[in-house]
Amino acid sequence: MASGTPFEYAPAPESRAVAPIAPTYGLFIGGQMVEPIDGATFKTVSPSTEEVLSEVSEAGAADVDRAVRAARAASRAWARMPGRERGKYLFRLARLVQERARELAVLETLDNGKPIRETRDVDLPLVAAHFFYHAGWADKLGYAGLGPSPRPLGVAGQVIPWNFPLLMLAWKVAPALAAGNTVVLKPAETTPLTALAFAEICQQADLPPGVVNIVTGAGDTGRLVVEHPDVDKVAFTGSTEVGKAIARAVAGTRKRLTLELGGKAANVIFDDAPVDQAVEGIVRGVFFNQGHVCCAGTRLLVQESVAEQVVASLKRRLGTLRLGDPLDKNTDIGAINSAVQLERIRAMSEVGEAEGATRWSADCPLPERGYWFPPTVFTDVAQTHRIAREEIFGPVLSVLTFRTPDEAVAKANNTPYGLSAGVWTEKGSRILWMAQRLRAGVVWANTFNHFDPASPFGGYKESGYGREGGRHGLAAYLHADDGQEA
Ligand code: NDP
Repeated sequence: MASGTPFEYAPAPESRAVAPIAPTYGLFIGGQMVEPIDGATFKTVSPSTEEVLSEVSEAGAADVDRAVRAARAASRAWARMPGRERGKYLFRLARLVQERARELAVLETLDNGKPIRETRDVDLPLVAAHFFYHAGWADKLGYAGLGPSPRPLGVAGQVIPWNFPLLMLAWKVAPALAAGNTVVLKPAETTPLTALAFAEICQQADLPPGVVNIVTGAGDTGRLVVEHPDVDKVAFTGSTEVGKAIARAVAGTRKRLTLELGGKAANVIFDDAPVDQAVEGIVRGVFFNQGHVCCAGTRLLVQESVAEQVVASLKRRLGTLRLGDPLDKNTDIGAINSAVQLERIRAMSEVGEAEGATRWSADCPLPERGYWFPPTVFTDVAQTHRIAREEIFGPVLSVLTFRTPDEAVAKANNTPYGLSAGVWTEKGSRILWMAQRLRAGVVWANTFNHFDPASPFGGYKESGYGREGGRHGLAAYLHADDGQEA
């Protein structure tokens, strides 16, 4: 092959047949699939083909009430069950997720549009890891730093987004159950299918009825879960706008609240960083999952002396990414999750051009059907530009430069968000210096977008409050032991 000729790949499609999809789904309440009371439904489509995958129930007020009552009815026995017994259920859930990992990965790819390589190698292993990790905590809550016998909060109402559907479910359900709470969970409207498959896994695991309830629907169903008076704890991941509305709705009630909201993370590249590795980190930071990642490194801050070199290498690398059928194991960039999200990404990119930034997109053909956006880089970006301040939630990177470490810190922190940041340098002392100054919940050093269930995750400022994962994440589902009788 002549140098410069693109490498040809034969397609390597994963089989759809491993993930059977029912034509319709009910709601998972009290351990059973039930019909919604008023019979309302909505369609879920494959973002890569626009094909209707299934018709899913839309839970109304009476359904959400039924789900909360089921969770309340199950709550006493679940809370009083010895931790080692609850742990066994969590281990069972973890093992069943592993056994059905291939099917769940295909299902997630079909419903979300993300590449099978990511669902298979990132989402599913992390989902299982979250259940395994929290299974281990169930009988050790007295060692979580909340006194010898911390108590569960009761019923948790949980609302999750579409970017990591099953993984966000695991982040919410595993700690809640380990701590002895029962849950009512609302998946995103565009990605309900893996949550419904998880309902089946709860049945397979013989989980006591009502411990997990899943109500599908749109934003209104989420609002009904959040506002239900018999919910003790609300856990939300999604946009800052909806997060603020939820904070207002919960204010003045006895409900506990954790919010995991948006971000506009800085990925800071110093002139002593190994350029090739940093470029891989930039790609992983913002083009992983089509940029549908709250902690994505969407603001590249690169030291001026190496900026040209880094941007040139980055563009070369982006030219090798393969965009297309998400079920093909060669695919790097899948589909945008919905027509609405695609429109937002397009609109924000047009704003970037109108404000005077220079737009560059990888030269890759886009499939005719489905929702697609090519990897895109904006240079000549000023801090005042909207593309440098607002979350785009797509495969779009804004490049800014700096000269000194102080300037890098000032620019990185110049955002209403504070979820994550990255630092690339060969000096350990500089990493520590930066980590102390960056106002971000997670700071990655010489890597980006690495997750582990033992590591707490969460934000500052408009990125939300509370932590998920690790010992800190458990605290969000427990009353500290204050010596009072339960
Ligand atoms: P939303 O915040 O609207 O959605 C997140 C979840 O909340 C979904 O399950 C949604 O339901 C539900 N929801 C919507 N309105 C309410 C409400 N009033 N009360 C309770 N729950 C509600 O995010 P979008 O999907 O609309 O995405 C918009 C933007 O949010 C994106 O462009 C991105 O910037 C950001 N985002 C950030 C995420 C993060 O992880 N931080 C994740 C997703 C989005 P439904 O899906 O049915 O509307």
